[in-house]
Amino acid sequence: MATLKIEGLRASVAGKEILKGIDLTVSSGEVHAVMGPNGAGKSTLSAVVMGKPGYEVLAGSVTLESDGATVDVLAMATWERAVAGLHLVMQYPTEVPGVRLDAVLAEAFTSRERSTEGLDASMRSEAGRIGFDERFLDRSLNVDLSGGEKKRNETLQLAMLAPKIAILDELDSGLDIDALRDCARRVEDMSNDADQPLGVLAITHYSRLLDELKPDFVHILADGRIVETGGAELAATLEADGYAAFAPAAQDSADASASALADLF
Ligand code: ADP
Ligand code: MG
Repeated sequence: MATLKIEGLRASVAGKEILKGIDLTVSSGEVHAVMGPNGAGKSTLSAVVMGKPGYEVLAGSVTLESDGATVDVLAMATWERAVAGLHLVMQYPTEVPGVRLDAVLAEAFTSRERSTEGLDASMRSEAGRIGFDERFLDRSLNVDLSGGEKKRNETLQLAMLAPKIAILDELDSGLDIDALRDCARRVEDMSNDADQPLGVLAITHYSRLLDELKPDFVHILADGRIVETGGAELAATLEADGYAAFAPAAQDSADASASALADLF
């Protein structure tokens, strides 16, 4: 069992504070959805937890506890975070010309001291399970793939690597309904795995992802803070009412610009 603990996390990018104190704990088998308007800091949160360059941590901590040992995530290089059991599914998967998926997985298995025996067969069976065309397995990573195929590819990597905690940054962006269902179901299945249930931090703008990937907790991120936490019903409220009720500051400034505009005319 594993627990990712984010406490009092504040971070800036390009000199501007974006995360203003985030507290979030995700344990094995739990699905946490983080929902919020554009620009709230959702991708920044995933970037800081994975150690993407260019982000400065101002305060707080991120730790990963697993099998009784706790590591300081923020002190580790990105690859060390991945080997420790954290995995990010990126909002916009990167194309890597000249590097094949099987080579990436073999390298990742080796750095995790896992045998690569049978890797090809399990990759093919996993591809079948999530509807990822086997023809793409021999291609350069994500090159010439559609948005949906890229996300199936990312989901395949996630399933093969079987991390302890996965962060999904808008798994639903750029996906058609069928691909979304296949990917979300696969992640839901991983979270229910009897041996090693995946802990999930699913960042999303829309609640449709959560039709298949059932959240135990829904958090609303607005202006760099978690302003509300609830169960799955909170996603339904958001779908019906939008974010305005949870982002009073943003709404106030929108109202102010609207009335300033009205004054001009
Ligand atoms: P979300 O994913 O919730 O839409 P982001 O975390 O991508 O939001 O962005 C939050 C804020 O941080 C936005 O105002 C965005 O413009 C700013 N930001 C994010 N990354 C950078 C960057 N590399 N340089 C400058 N500003 C950035
Ligand atoms: Mg984003």
